[in-house]
Amino acid sequence: MQYQNTISFALNCDKNDPLKSYRDQFHIPQHNGQDCIYLVGNSLGLQPKSTRSYIEQELKDWQDLGVEGHFDERATRPWFHYHKFLKSHLAKLAGAKEMEVVSMNSLTTNLHLMMVSFYRPTAKRFKIITEAGAFPSDQYALETQLHFHANKGGERLFEPEEALVELKPRTGEETLRTEDILAAIDEHKDQLALVMMAGVQYYTGQLFNIQEITKKGHECGALVGFDLAHAFGNIPLNLHGDGVDFAVWCSYKYLNSGPGSVSGVFVHERHGSNPDLPRFAGWWGHDESKRFQMKKGFIPMAGADAWQLSNVNVLPSAAHLASLEIFSEAGIENLRQKSILLTGFMEFLLNDLNRGGEKIKIITPRDPDQRGAQLSLCLSTGGKDLFNQLGENGIIADWREPNVIRVAAVPMYNSFEDVWKFVEKLKKLLS
Ligand SMILES: *Cc1c(COP(=O)(O)O)cnc(C)c1O
Repeated sequence: MQYQNTISFALNCDKNDPLKSYRDQFHIPQHNGQDCIYLVGNSLGLQPKSTRSYIEQELKDWQDLGVEGHFDERATRPWFHYHKFLKSHLAKLAGAKEMEVVSMNSLTTNLHLMMVSFYRPTAKRFKIITEAGAFPSDQYALETQLHFHANKGGERLFEPEEALVELKPRTGEETLRTEDILAAIDEHKDQLALVMMAGVQYYTGQLFNIQEITKKGHECGALVGFDLAHAFGNIPLNLHGDGVDFAVWCSYKYLNSGPGSVSGVFVHERHGSNPDLPRFAGWWGHDESKRFQMKKGFIPMAGADAWQLSNVNVLPSAAHLASLEIFSEAGIENLRQKSILLTGFMEFLLNDLNRGGEKIKIITPRDPDQRGAQLSLCLSTGGKDLFNQLGENGIIADWREPNVIRVAAVPMYNSFEDVWKFVEKLKKLLS
């Protein structure tokens, strides 16, 4: 698209946006009686207007039916089956079969559950490859998993510090080159147990090449998992086709399902159909037809469901369902199309702002195929002040130490006008 740096151009893009009506389906936080410019849907997505009624429905069924809400045909969506109502939507977003996905728990919990099954180090194969500067929760999960496994039967299997291979960009570069990721996998192949990376890196906004990384990991005899916290609902995924072993994500960022809402996992069919995989189990992963016989001896469900521990967190799942229905209606491919234009527009305006001296450095890749909605803006000085001033002007962005402002124009509810106003304000504040 041939962009122009004018408000009329932005308004015209909004007028012609086939997804423009979706903005009205969300509550936009207010600043001095006007809509905020909300650019942090990558951190906490906005509330769909339909969410309240989905939660109220479950409160009502609980009120009217008590425990019978689990099975009773008077219940709108009986709780025993509640996770199943989310599956078709999640499968579409994941590019997966329905049996390969399930919503449950929180993200970090699920990462640990997946690693119990898929990180099985031996004295020969024990290394994990990840990106340097991964989200802290992921770093802690990997670190403690490594320590948990380092000794076996009184024997030292490996040194945890040597087992974690953290990939850094080349000197002078901000993001990783795919060729370097693949080369690192190859370099460590004799000792590599697991490649565990973000889909979209939370700090830089870089979208990694899931297909290539998975292929290379498998060629090198490792398993491959992804943390899709910043990818799910942001970019279309093809987890089944790409052959990814497992993935986890949360639902409160791009998925707009509310603070701390229920997470999700993907387990590839080839693992989901293997009843002998080691795992930590609970009754909700047990064969559904025999679950209430309350007998000894775990019999796993087929697919990702086998990793469920507990009965469904119905209230957050209701919020999740309300939002996922909007995603299915809008279509992730359509959202992605708009997202590329919207983020491209922001980049164009920032380039314009930078004419005659770079004031703001975009550290997110310039290639649209290597990023989602987010741009990470690096400021050499005064970043925190600028961020605070944006807030005072009703522009909600996100500050990450030491010097990055993250902004995401989310195609579901952000407009080209939002983007134009943001950069225009930025320009005023910088001059
Ligand atoms: C947001 C995010 C998390 C958050 O983990 P919770 O368990 O949901 O608190 C973890 N990892 C990544 C990569 C994230 O972006």
